[in-house]
Amino acid sequence: MTTDVRDEVTDLLQHLIRNACVNDGTDESGFETRSVDVLAQYLGDTGLDLERYEPKPGRENLVARIEGTDPKAPTLLLMGHTDVVPVTPESWQRDPFGGELVDGEVWGRGAVDMLNLTASMAVAFKGLAKSGFKPKGTLVYLAVADEESLGTWGAEHLITKQRDAVAADYVITESGGFQMPAPSGPKLPVLVGEKGSYWCRITAKGTPGHASQPFRTDNALVTAAEVVRRLADYRPPAQIHNIWRDFIGGVEFPAEISEPLLDADRIDEFCEVLPLGLAREAHACTHTTFAPTIIHGGTKTNVIPDEVSIEVDIRTLPGQKGADVHKMIETALGDLVSRVDITPFDDNESTASVTDTPLWDTLQRVSSRLVESSAIVPFLTVGATDARFFRRAGSVAYGYGLFSRRLSFEDYSTMFHGNDERVDVDSLELSTQLWDATARDLLG
Ligand SMILES: [Zn+2]
Repeated sequence: MTTDVRDEVTDLLQHLIRNACVNDGTDESGFETRSVDVLAQYLGDTGLDLERYEPKPGRENLVARIEGTDPKAPTLLLMGHTDVVPVTPESWQRDPFGGELVDGEVWGRGAVDMLNLTASMAVAFKGLAKSGFKPKGTLVYLAVADEESLGTWGAEHLITKQRDAVAADYVITESGGFQMPAPSGPKLPVLVGEKGSYWCRITAKGTPGHASQPFRTDNALVTAAEVVRRLADYRPPAQIHNIWRDFIGGVEFPAEISEPLLDADRIDEFCEVLPLGLAREAHACTHTTFAPTIIHGGTKTNVIPDEVSIEVDIRTLPGQKGADVHKMIETALGDLVSRVDITPFDDNESTASVTDTPLWDTLQRVSSRLVESSAIVPFLTVGATDARFFRRAGSVAYGYGLFSRRLSFEDYSTMFHGNDERVDVDSLELSTQLWDATARDLLG
């Protein structure tokens, strides 16, 4: 690959970071149109038709395609999101939206989630288009808005309202592909499934009164505080599901590590002594998790609050349904259940794709050429990605990319939605090569 491509993918990523398409969960945030403009301009000189979909002003999505010659051949969709999550700038060593290139690394929000892939997919797509790539199957590039909230103005909108534009047999989106050293060569996780989410609001009720006389009042804030404490203390049992079993089986950890990680009775204790990034990951992969994240309530300093609501981010395991989660909340809250209202406002079940597919075989072939002696292993992502919409529509969808050895698993997992997010240029180049080789191998 030429220096031009390294520069190109670096430059495109810097642009996307500087656009700061921050999605804070409100419909008015994101404004991904800025990055769709950049990508449309970048892909514009391929001569290909670009389609833009704008379900809400400012929340634009971009589709580009290289039409296959054989209608029976499979379609591969490369999908990247253009939005990013908010930052706490004081906690960063560098400007989170500066897109600075320092010591071979591009810094900024989105550098690993997932503007790195959105950029490298675009660069590979453009390279293929300009080289006159005429595959049997169709290659589609899709840049979506709103992944960091619920996908309402991005993947969900497209899959429900513009199905023909984005329908695909195979989909690749974020993330995975960090190198896990192992005796027989690096193992590269491919996200074949993801946890579900069950976001709910727990509202504590109380009786208003004058705060100068708090004795024996029914203060909703005090009840809410106890709800938060009980959720934080709740320890649901571990579940060793198939994806976890296949992952741990594939990564060749020594027995003293793999055995406790595969033992539902020992894994909790073991997570206490693992390095932080790995511990959080291992715990989240094998447990339903409960994270209270927002609290609203109270009206005035001198008024006993009569209503306080807490939002809780709950992530579910393969096979769990809303009713199962509801039971767990009841267990966690115990006798407080009768004093609160529990209202789910987003219930997304876990999804997964199988691994005996042509795309899996392609990724294995291509990866072992790009990363010597490597093997791909199935992995479960603990966050939600847009892959879920495509899996539910019948596509095989994986999360993948490639990273150089410079990025450790520890760095990778703590940078997601964290501080000092950055990616090295070698990783950007590797991913660009990956998309190019995958399209050529799978689509013929
Ligand atoms: Zn992401």
